[in-house]
Amino acid sequence: MVKGFVYLVGAGPGRADLITVRGAEVLKKADCIIYDKLANPALLRFARSDAEIIHVPKRTGGSSVTQEEINKLLLEKASANRTIVRLKGGDPCIFGRCAEELAVLIEAGIGFEIVPGITAGIAVASYAGILLTDREYSSQVVFVTGQEKPGKQKSNIDWDLLAKFSGTIVFYMGVGNLSFIAERLIENGMDGDTPAAIIADATFPTQRVVKAALSDISQSCKQQGIEPPAIIIIGAAADSNAQFNWFMKKPLFGKNIVVTRDTIGNVDFAAKVISRCGNPLKFPTIKIKSLTETNEFLRMLAKITEYDWIIFTSANGVRIFFEALQNLDKDARVFGSAKIAAIGDGTAAKLSEFGIKADFVPSVFTGKELGKQLIAFTNLRSKKVLLLRSKIASKELIELLDKAGAEVQDVAVYTAVEEKSKCTWLIEEISNGRIDWLTFASPSSVNGFFEQVSSDVVNSGKVKVASIGPVTSERLKTLGVRIDVTAEDHTLDGLLDAIEQTYKGI
Ligand code: SAH
Repeated sequence: MVKGFVYLVGAGPGRADLITVRGAEVLKKADCIIYDKLANPALLRFARSDAEIIHVPKRTGGSSVTQEEINKLLLEKASANRTIVRLKGGDPCIFGRCAEELAVLIEAGIGFEIVPGITAGIAVASYAGILLTDREYSSQVVFVTGQEKPGKQKSNIDWDLLAKFSGTIVFYMGVGNLSFIAERLIENGMDGDTPAAIIADATFPTQRVVKAALSDISQSCKQQGIEPPAIIIIGAAADSNAQFNWFMKKPLFGKNIVVTRDTIGNVDFAAKVISRCGNPLKFPTIKIKSLTETNEFLRMLAKITEYDWIIFTSANGVRIFFEALQNLDKDARVFGSAKIAAIGDGTAAKLSEFGIKADFVPSVFTGKELGKQLIAFTNLRSKKVLLLRSKIASKELIELLDKAGAEVQDVAVYTAVEEKSKCTWLIEEISNGRIDWLTFASPSSVNGFFEQVSSDVVNSGKVKVASIGPVTSERLKTLGVRIDVTAEDHTLDGLLDAIEQTYKGI
């Protein structure tokens, strides 16, 4: 019988982009992904659309899926000539019950590879600015499980050695046992004044750090309501320089930022928010609908080489245009010698994914500026200009090009239709002051959003509103929505820059 193959992959400590390159690579080819509670579900975006996805959350005590059930499942899936990824939080072999899963595979003669991950103990330290080793105060580090229950007959933990240990002690799974851990160490001779730190939800925008002396750490954690998952660090390292805590100092750290584009666009935008340490909340307001099967589009394509300039005004337009080309077995050569213009950096970047370098990008990313600057850049009199854009784009660009004597054809490659999301949760969060920002990247998102949430809810809450540019802001103003910032650079990054700017100097 042909057998499958299993990759035991470390998902990293939390934030999805902290997985290794190898980990992401094998996720992309898996037929089946079996993932743990602590592996970030956002990693499933690497999965093939036809991959089988199985969640196996295991809990301490009364578990929802037992280790025995997981072993059985792994064997069953891997026996069927399939590529399996067993995705585990952190590193698969650090407190990951790897030995049991490997034993099952070895016994069944199933091949495997272990893909390491960044273990929580290392990541929490980096993300809290705690240096586990330092030539001055810590030349050794030890990882310990904190899950040994009080009253266990024989402990596997060398409390007497740990109490004398002169380096850094890192406890996993210790929140529930924190007072027991501290007591055992003090009882065995560790100074109660030894610095201790606990870091919960590390690498996420909800990360929290509590620091106290060993004798007080349990009480401090209770007072501050710290919950698992958390790592406890004990030793001189825990008394780190507060200035090293780079992550929690980021302007967007912990900020709840609602992204309101279409579903695909929201994934993209959310990743940008996460990379700036903010917490994105996805609220799709529109659906992008391709219009490339229309006769108008196909007629245009048949004579596309006749145009002198072809203008794209959004990354969506580029993506959908090239998807249509691919479906028709064509590629970028259809453009012939036509020159290509892009409204901004995002659109130009999308074009470059398809091997096209834009001949013109204005310095300000609006339709109006694109028109004005293109006219100043080149003589468009009697030139044939093709606009490939959204059906609901503004007429301003056409008017400018017309005036310059160009022969303009405006072909819609897509349109945005409103999408209804479940909105009660969002209205509640806004009303309770738990949302920091609403972001709008197009007038159609504004329409879609305020179809569902009233402008009064937004205007009367503490939530702030950020707009990508003047056209979107205009739409917000028409609806009577208070705008707190409008991006100077009309891109998603520009929008986040503008939000960050409001926190500078606070
Ligand atoms: N294999 C994992 C550890 C599994 S044990 C690894 O290498 O990281 C689970 C423990 O890991 C939790 O109880 C907690 O102590 C720690 N942990 C995992 N993710 C964490 C996070 N994001 N923040 C803090 N601690 C985390």
